[in-house]
Amino acid sequence: MIERESVQVYVNGRPVLRRVQIEPTNRCNFTCGYCRRTHWARPEGDMRLERFREVLDRLPEVSHIHLQGVGEPLLNKDLPAMIRCSRLCGARVGTTTNASLLSMKKAMALLDSGINRINLSVDTLEATDFSRLRPGLSIKKVLANITELAELRYNGGYEDISLAFALVTVQPAIESLSSIIRLAAELGLDEVYLQNLNGSFLPAGYLDEESPGDNGYGYYREATQSAHALASRLGIRFLPPAMDIPDYSWRCRWPLHGCNVTWDGFVSPCCLQPDPDVLHFGNLFETDFEKIWSSPAYHHFRARVQADCEPLCAGCPDRYGQMWHPTANPFAELQP
Ligand code: SF4
Repeated sequence: MIERESVQVYVNGRPVLRRVQIEPTNRCNFTCGYCRRTHWARPEGDMRLERFREVLDRLPEVSHIHLQGVGEPLLNKDLPAMIRCSRLCGARVGTTTNASLLSMKKAMALLDSGINRINLSVDTLEATDFSRLRPGLSIKKVLANITELAELRYNGGYEDISLAFALVTVQPAIESLSSIIRLAAELGLDEVYLQNLNGSFLPAGYLDEESPGDNGYGYYREATQSAHALASRLGIRFLPPAMDIPDYSWRCRWPLHGCNVTWDGFVSPCCLQPDPDVLHFGNLFETDFEKIWSSPAYHHFRARVQADCEPLCAGCPDRYGQMWHPTANPFAELQP
């Protein structure tokens, strides 16, 4: 486990890559309104296994690899093989899925792959809200799949694989916090993880409709505090973004120790700015990673983020390091 505070960002004056998010596919079986891919026109595709191996060969040794991008990772049939390859590199490996395709066969393949963590993306348990947020997706089917996965993990002796509910901070998720934490405890999950939504690419008004709105910060703070108390009682880790940030002296750490690699090889700074048409620093299949990582463009971007004057980060919820600030969470750690 790597504590947030203990991460040494610079070694010999240069940033050190610790964690990489790699996109197995940018295809998805759903069109959630708050997802970036719903609102862009990028070409769709999967990273082929040989290309994935090439990415691993080209990257330096990292401690965490998360296999997720803007698509549904289970749509790539090679996901379990990618996990095995990543584990052979010595990294802790995780993925995030909407769980709609998590058949028993796929669940077993994931559990057998050597994966360390599976994030299950579920924002609410309320059927109407769920269908509105995720058109075409049934909460009943998703919960049946998650229940089966949890049982397989328990009965198969895979308890060292972390299972977490991953939520984004929309109003229905805040309202569902206590029921989701109770369900996590019932199913024997380890964690409920709440992540801020980057609304800067969403259609005008979308976030206003889905965010806590007039209830605002006080409501959010109260809801996350009582969720935290409930989770502690039930033995579930609850990881909300920092509640008392912004601390304007603290800046996003993503460009300093992490990066995002798209299915077609583009290196972008983070998972909150994953669109290579907006920003990328090079393509791993064409340029040596070290050249990309230490390029003047990357260096200047990091400097602008640290100086709080990067326009692309202006609307980002992690601008002041909400996910990485030492006080962001009592259980703070770098998650795969
Ligand atoms: S502030 Fe947001 S968009 Fe900017 S580098 Fe950090 S996570 Fe990415």
